[in-house]
Amino acid sequence: MSLLQKFERYSLTFGPTPIERLPRLSAALGGKVEIYAKRDDCNSGLAMGGNKLRKLEYIVPDAIASGADTLVSIGGVQSNHTRMVAATAAKIGMKCVVIQENWVPHHDAVYDRVGNILMTRLMGADSRLVDAGFDIGIRSSWEEAIMSVTNAGGKPYPIPAGASMHKYGGLGYVGFAEEVAGQEHALGFSFDYIVSCVVTGSTQAGMIVGFADQGRADRVIGIDASGTIERTRAQVRGIVDHTAALVGLRRAVRDDEIVINPDYAYPAYGVPSDATNEAIRLAARTEAMITDPVYEGKSMQGLIALTREGFFPEGSRVLYAHLGGAPAINGYSYYYKDG
Ligand SMILES: *Cc1c(COP(=O)(O)O)cnc(C)c1O
Repeated sequence: MSLLQKFERYSLTFGPTPIERLPRLSAALGGKVEIYAKRDDCNSGLAMGGNKLRKLEYIVPDAIASGADTLVSIGGVQSNHTRMVAATAAKIGMKCVVIQENWVPHHDAVYDRVGNILMTRLMGADSRLVDAGFDIGIRSSWEEAIMSVTNAGGKPYPIPAGASMHKYGGLGYVGFAEEVAGQEHALGFSFDYIVSCVVTGSTQAGMIVGFADQGRADRVIGIDASGTIERTRAQVRGIVDHTAALVGLRRAVRDDEIVINPDYAYPAYGVPSDATNEAIRLAARTEAMITDPVYEGKSMQGLIALTREGFFPEGSRVLYAHLGGAPAINGYSYYYKDG
């Protein structure tokens, strides 16, 4: 029985996302493990989709019930999350204010004009650029934005960075775990590992709770892209505990079931290393699968490195969770001017 039965969901996505075999990437990495991708990057027609929509599906009913007229949120300049909040607001007929902070030490000439922020503006969101550094927690600029809506006579509904520290932020990816189990049943086999990027934490935390119900939470390999591993780990731990209690998971999740690998986040959040860029190129050239320099390029880098070093036993089936994020690559054109 689904852990999510008692929760209301507002549909923003197409439904279950496809699982795709990646035979050329698997072969390029030695052919000893079979790599698949679950395409949450193709999950919706709303502004190119991505993982935040799975979370927002469980948050929108609460926003509507609150009587709010404005969604307020926060992220970096090239935030996928603020794009998804802007898309959700447009779709449900609310206004939207998003604070976009200077999270990334990256200075492409059009960084604040293209990709995510372009679409965010196009969808009518009030996008406010603010000069503050990377932090996955609660920010004063965000509190000021909420207050500005109230002061203008509106009713704000606050959604924290990445929709993670929201009471329902973990539910969407509990659903992911249940969806994977259903798809495995149809496929006739199970995945041995699930690889997912982690930054603000509710994606992996939701997966952990959902897969814990199936007895395999420790098979979710989080690849940190925050570069602030202790904070991310603490945030995942907190969301796991909160979400497990919320859905009524019948057992505690142990610390050793929360697996986060910090090795690929360098040199910093939002900045790709040479190895990140090689990973992005390899996925693009073998499978035409586009990953970005902030999130999925780092988890792809981790998937590639772990496969090459034999972390996954021979014969393993590995499911790479593609969480979206490709629009941000437009803000990094200089890295890829020669391919
Ligand atoms: C937000 C995001 C992540 C990280 O998910 P969290 O829930 O913040 O840990 C990974 N990939 C993409 C494309 C994202 O937009």
